[in-house]
Amino acid sequence: MNNLEIKTFNLFKPFPSLVHGLSTRKGGFSKSPYNGLNLGLHTDDDKDAVLKNRKMYFKALNIKPDQLVFPEQVHSDHIAIVNEPGIIQQCDALITNRADLFLSVQTADCFPVLIFDTEQKAAAIVHSGWRGAAKNITGKTIEKMKRNFNSQSDNLLIAVGAGIQQSCYQVNKKTAMNFDEKYLLPDTPGHYKLDVQAVIIDQILETGVRPENIERDTVCTHCNEGLYFSYRRNKNNSGRMMSVIGFKNNFV
Ligand SMILES: [Zn+2]
Repeated sequence: MNNLEIKTFNLFKPFPSLVHGLSTRKGGFSKSPYNGLNLGLHTDDDKDAVLKNRKMYFKALNIKPDQLVFPEQVHSDHIAIVNEPGIIQQCDALITNRADLFLSVQTADCFPVLIFDTEQKAAAIVHSGWRGAAKNITGKTIEKMKRNFNSQSDNLLIAVGAGIQQSCYQVNKKTAMNFDEKYLLPDTPGHYKLDVQAVIIDQILETGVRPENIERDTVCTHCNEGLYFSYRRNKNNSGRMMSVIGFKNNFV
């Protein structure tokens, strides 16, 4: 029951003070249909189970619940620079240069983007589904790091976590029209399959980040039911994964 499986990224491994992770549904206390490690308090899951799951997850990351920042995600391009823990309303990306402050986003098909500036000691996290991608919230977050923390593209390491992959992600024409045709595959009449992760990767590259400094999780949330929650698959019966990034004050 308590065997958590937390996804980590190789490009962050050289930094022992950096804390990061993308939860999976493995382990945890939630019962069917959420079964596993549902970390979304706004789902219809039992609140006590979610709180127990969160406690277990934060403990596994070796951080405390009162060190976290939670954006109330609204599929916007609103980006907040944060200096203290708590809930940030109407926001889908967070940036900080404070130690011992851990940024989070929750996803179930949308993509989490984790960003670390190895020189300026700044971290950021982004929640981007197709709406966020259409608004380029990822690129805007990187530009905001450059403006506010003097981040240089060459010093940014970026991980794009698991979300719904193109083969499983049919959208209608109205949604598809927000994107260049290179991200679309024609599907049933009036519908396309959209590669949101490819859009996000290109938005990162457009800011000058080197390809070798980008890592992606290509496991599809939609067709890996044992590992990930998927809103498209399970609708309101879907739990949420949580991604976290931040660094401890013993930065090395
Ligand atoms: Zn899939």
